[in-house]
Amino acid sequence: MTRIFHLAAISFAALGLASAANAQEARNVILMISDGAGMTTWQAASHYRHGALGQEVYDGFDVHVFMSTYSQGREDGEPGSYDGVPAWDDTPTDDVFEARDTTYPQGFEGYRYLRTNATDSAAAGTALASGVKVRNGALNIAPDGTRLSHIGQTLAANGGVFGSIADVYWSHATPAAFLAHNTSRQNYEEIGRQIVTDQAATVVMGAGHPYFDNNGLPRSGEDVDYRYVGGADTWQALSAGEAGWTSIDTLTGFEALASGEREIAAGERIIGTVPVAATIRFGRDGDGMDDPLIPTVPDLATMSVGALNTLHAQDAPFFLMIEGGAVDWAAHSNNLPRIIEEQIGFNLAIEAVVDWVETHSSWEETLIVVTTDHGNGLLLGPDSLEEAFQNVVGQGAGHLPLARWHTDNHTNELVPVWAHGAGAERIAAKATGRDDGLAAWGIPEENRIYLDNIELNRAMHDALGLEFPN
Ligand SMILES: [Zn+2]
Repeated sequence: MTRIFHLAAISFAALGLASAANAQEARNVILMISDGAGMTTWQAASHYRHGALGQEVYDGFDVHVFMSTYSQGREDGEPGSYDGVPAWDDTPTDDVFEARDTTYPQGFEGYRYLRTNATDSAAAGTALASGVKVRNGALNIAPDGTRLSHIGQTLAANGGVFGSIADVYWSHATPAAFLAHNTSRQNYEEIGRQIVTDQAATVVMGAGHPYFDNNGLPRSGEDVDYRYVGGADTWQALSAGEAGWTSIDTLTGFEALASGEREIAAGERIIGTVPVAATIRFGRDGDGMDDPLIPTVPDLATMSVGALNTLHAQDAPFFLMIEGGAVDWAAHSNNLPRIIEEQIGFNLAIEAVVDWVETHSSWEETLIVVTTDHGNGLLLGPDSLEEAFQNVVGQGAGHLPLARWHTDNHTNELVPVWAHGAGAERIAAKATGRDDGLAAWGIPEENRIYLDNIELNRAMHDALGLEFPN
């Protein structure tokens, strides 16, 4: 295949059609990231929701492979890597593992390996957005200081439009990886200001509203926090409609975008700031699923459809990143009911996106990729300290599966990728690694193959007919 496209590139170049370097299959690409969701997290949510595996909409996609996620490593550490032999090492060990806030029994040598030297969301997001491995914490800045062109930026330079949305702060690491450049993901205010002043994207959505708390209730005085929306001056200009963007920050505003009742003008840029502090659901009071939801915020499905309508109105090829960001936060908290709640919210968003494609576009022109940026929590079965890599055990629909956490931080495990539509086979073609250890989690033999996260980025570039710029 590579040779055929290479020859095609030569003949297009001879005709002076420089931008036709790759055969374009996908007009649009939608990348959906459930942050910090290893394979067993998807399975736990599926057990709870359906009482079985195999019934989520992504289970019907044409392509199901796995992906390695390692980064260039921490600032002062070794570069990351992935090797299936140490990853699945079932040699027992008695010592302990010091995670972020908690100490866990080490269990097995493979657990030690998977819990060591994992990527963070900034480096993982950069790999998916720009196709280059960077140090943890960096957003689209290479180790040598080069500013990397992320995929939306590259598509926009070729006549397309792009967006990046999340159900956490819109300046948070993953959405920012598809919007901004910074040496540190922690520079939220600077990142937010850059997103607004660049006016590069067409749609940006997420939480981080300065005037609402984690329950969606008004906050005032010294509790007001402009950090995640570019600072006070940027927010004032944005909300006054003086920053080159339309600002939306009410539930009815999000719903009108999704329903189509609100007209979207050609060239209009929209920033939707959900009226809540950190995220739409996970930060509310309580720690279970029974705590009442915040009634004044949209769900990720509504945000996704609104963003798709906004891009579709521009009558140009588009790239959209959609992140379920609080799956990762629930994993950091080792909160099983809340991670299942978050993952189900993400799965509902996938269903809404699939419906949108089938209504407003088609699988002949649009590619959907569903994945995560890295594992988190090493969620395994209840007896996984005795039985290496034991999977979570379903207890029927509406019941929490039996499970045990092995860390409160990110992991280096292979993570799932599902893809469907235009150019999806390019992702399968790049999955040249094989890892039969995945049998432990019930993965069929034909799906125990993997590519690297930077290869997924290349496949998306290729599907869009974009020359890789970095
Ligand atoms: Zn992440």
